[in-house]
Amino acid sequence: MEPLYKPEGVEERWQRAWEEEGLYRAGAGARRDETFVICVPPPNVTGALHMGHALNGSLQDVLIRWHRMRGFDTLWQPGYDHAGIATQNVVEKALAREGSSRKELGRDAFVERVWHHLEETGRTIMGQFRSLGASLDYERERFTMDDAYIEAVMRFFVHLWERGWLYRANRIVNWCPFHETAISDLEVVHEEMDDALTYARYPFADGEGGITIATARPATILADVGVAVHPGDERYRESVGREVVVPFVARRVPVITDERVDPEFGTGALKITPGHDVKDFDIGRDHGLRTITVIGPDGSMNEHAGELAGLTQAEADERILGWLKERGQLERRESYRHAVGTCERCHARIEPLVSLQWWCAMEEPRKPALTALRERRVRYHPESQHAFAIRSLEEIPDWNISRQLWWGHQLPIWYCPDGHATCDWPAPDACAECGSAELERDPDVLDTWFSSALWPYATLGWPEQPPELERYYPGDVNSTAREIIRLWENRMIWSGLELMGDVPFTDVVIHSTILATDGRRMSKSLGNGVDPLELIEKHGADATRYGLLKMSSTQDVRFAEGALEEGRKLANKLWNVSRLLLQQRIEPVVRPTAVEERWILARLDATRAEIEQAWSQFEFSQSMQALYRITFDDF
Ligand SMILES: [Zn+2]
Ligand SMILES: [Zn+2]
Repeated sequence: MEPLYKPEGVEERWQRAWEEEGLYRAGAGARRDETFVICVPPPNVTGALHMGHALNGSLQDVLIRWHRMRGFDTLWQPGYDHAGIATQNVVEKALAREGSSRKELGRDAFVERVWHHLEETGRTIMGQFRSLGASLDYERERFTMDDAYIEAVMRFFVHLWERGWLYRANRIVNWCPFHETAISDLEVVHEEMDDALTYARYPFADGEGGITIATARPATILADVGVAVHPGDERYRESVGREVVVPFVARRVPVITDERVDPEFGTGALKITPGHDVKDFDIGRDHGLRTITVIGPDGSMNEHAGELAGLTQAEADERILGWLKERGQLERRESYRHAVGTCERCHARIEPLVSLQWWCAMEEPRKPALTALRERRVRYHPESQHAFAIRSLEEIPDWNISRQLWWGHQLPIWYCPDGHATCDWPAPDACAECGSAELERDPDVLDTWFSSALWPYATLGWPEQPPELERYYPGDVNSTAREIIRLWENRMIWSGLELMGDVPFTDVVIHSTILATDGRRMSKSLGNGVDPLELIEKHGADATRYGLLKMSSTQDVRFAEGALEEGRKLANKLWNVSRLLLQQRIEPVVRPTAVEERWILARLDATRAEIEQAWSQFEFSQSMQALYRITFDDF
């Protein structure tokens, strides 16, 4: 044996051997009837292993191996998410490089192209999990676009429909004008931008004077339906209840009061544009104001913009500013730096847009989940995240489940020429209301998180009832990043209670976020990320796992390579201990009598107890320290 441990070669060989011997299979080596189940959070099918995966994979593997060693029937479920917009974006970019586009290709050819792309370059992370030493049951890999999984998604949708929780309505959503789809809050990134704030005067309809408002988006003036001021704002006491005339369109609109107006912003008078602003949408609805939309799905001015129809927003801004200036209603413009929502994938400016979308009412389905969390049948760790998860359910808005994409699960909704909607699966032959056989399927696909909400039981074969489903559901632990508590964790909990009658797991570990050495979040655009595969190559998987777990003491930690070097030292020491024993052919003694032998065995027992205690509370950093101490300080 070499005096210095070289992980390269050794790790890979054993990883392969153990997998080939079937040691990672569900139930392998089980000596007791109890099960222990974790589903890996399904990574994007086009993604690559990042630091979050590496840390999360390490701690799940600790829990899985710990239970497997104690004889539990253990399942660690692998698989991938189809990641609707992310995957569609990768393929659209490839098409753009070829001078083509999704629209040019048409829907069917585009979807085929996505499958082709995935065959070529997709599904790489499970291979990278192997390099990390993760003992997943790789033979059970699932994909949210597998036929059986699609079946589960359709059945879930029809179930919600039959419960009466699905409805279609015009609501304001985050709209990406490049992708031409609604996107979730998580996919919106806020970036600081320099804009101009325009101060425009709206004259009173019944005489002298007027009110000046401030806006960063003059083009939306065309969709104004009111002006609102804070009820306590003395400056406007005389104006409330009167009408003003909206510039350019000469629309008479009321001056109203609302608590949600910030009197500190601009002049304290807010133009109300329910069609193009989230807060205005709420205010408009509560005051019974109508909604006008002047910007279309592609971000340019639509047919309701009158003579400005077809212009870009920037062009429309110029026309309106010119109009205001000519009439002396442009008071001033000043530079204005503010946070603007942009699309995470294409960086287009997000349009808050009112559009017809499918929604899942959350009032009913959240109730059993709230009870389960309050009764601690599911516990989030650390405790602060448990409180956050409860609060998220208490304040949960209805869920926008439709996306205007092509890659994903198309809604099982069909329309007849009279506009009746029929929801069924498999596809219906006739309209449920009028019997018409002329049916057209809704073109929208479901939010990606709709299918991941089913992950814990759809991966086990639901809606079929195979024996694995009964054996391995409910599972035990789920571990994830804190950003997806609302998007994923809570949804698995309520959907599991609804369809399976039980919570999908009892413990949710919200793991640390490993920040870059400069204390900022690791990101591609900042170039401050650390590639876990490079770390594995440099230090070995054991040392990498040790280092990541050692770092993960609190919710936000800075990356420190020293922890991995410590892990490497530890691996080397253990290697040398083994080398010593093997070379000297030391026979194990069953009942040692020497004082120092009995002492080290007692230390070993105490350390094992300490480590097990830490793991049972999902404290990984502490357990690594204990391991290091016994190896270096005691032995
Ligand atoms: Zn986009
Ligand atoms: Zn019909």
